[in-house]
Amino acid sequence: MTDHADRTGDWMDDAERNDGKTCIICGHDKENGIVIVSEFICEECEAEMVRTDVRDARYPFFIHQMKRIWYQKDA
Ligand SMILES: [Zn+2]
Repeated sequence: MTDHADRTGDWMDDAERNDGKTCIICGHDKENGIVIVSEFICEECEAEMVRTDVRDARYPFFIHQMKRIWYQKDA
């Protein structure tokens, strides 16, 4: 075992214990939000998605991110 491997293990432990979650849409660590099929979406992105019209340019991006969740569910 090298020092590098030990540090990597410590980092993974910290990540699992972290109360904040990483939003699948914006990629930021947020404390408040919803979890869909074990994937986290922060409240800001959730609100953004609810507001976003299907004709909005960002809508395909949201759908693309959401599909990643649905595919994981089926796997
Ligand atoms: Zn977000």
